[in-house]
Amino acid sequence: MANEALYQKYRSMTFEEVVGQEYVVRSLKNALKSGKTGHAYLFCGPRGTGKTTMARLLAKAVNCENPAEAPCGHCESCRAVAEGTHQDVVEINAANETHVENIRDLIDRAQLAPMMSRYKIYIIDEVHQLSNAAASALLKTLEEPPAHVIFILATTDPQKLLPTIISRCQRFDFAKVPEQLIMAHLQKSAAAEGFTLEDKAA
Ligand SMILES: [Zn+2]
Repeated sequence: MANEALYQKYRSMTFEEVVGQEYVVRSLKNALKSGKTGHAYLFCGPRGTGKTTMARLLAKAVNCENPAEAPCGHCESCRAVAEGTHQDVVEINAANETHVENIRDLIDRAQLAPMMSRYKIYIIDEVHQLSNAAASALLKTLEEPPAHVIFILATTDPQKLLPTIISRCQRFDFAKVPEQLIMAHLQKSAAAEGFTLEDKAA
């Protein structure tokens, strides 16, 4: 339990805290700063590289009530995303929702205006696990996305995606995080809790 609390607490809350993905952070911040965010993103990379964390940060940033190149973290919208209660930010894992009805239902609801913020965000994790029919339904919406919708797709296995889906998205490849960086991050977290972590333990 204590570990879980610590994990939550140090789960990256700002772009700067996402370890080892400087290129992705820089690109997203530039897009946010110039107001040129897209309607479909594809985050590719191995497990544990921060794809979902980055997706939530992007969701926060585009809906933040104090728009800037990064989410403020304390407005109503930012807090709702952090707590997982934002009505316009929907997160699903395609591994559990492979049925075409689920995706159709989600897409039908995407047509409706957002309830509390500017954008409706759909974060679809492990998107390569969607069935063919579900992927085709998703593709149709990606071809003509409603102006208020942003899809953030994440996958560990982009080769399994329809090339037509990939071509509709702004693709970002997440780099495998070097052990040295993870170690430094853990030690920083430990220091903030008032104890030191030997290199070996980290
Ligand atoms: Zn905010």
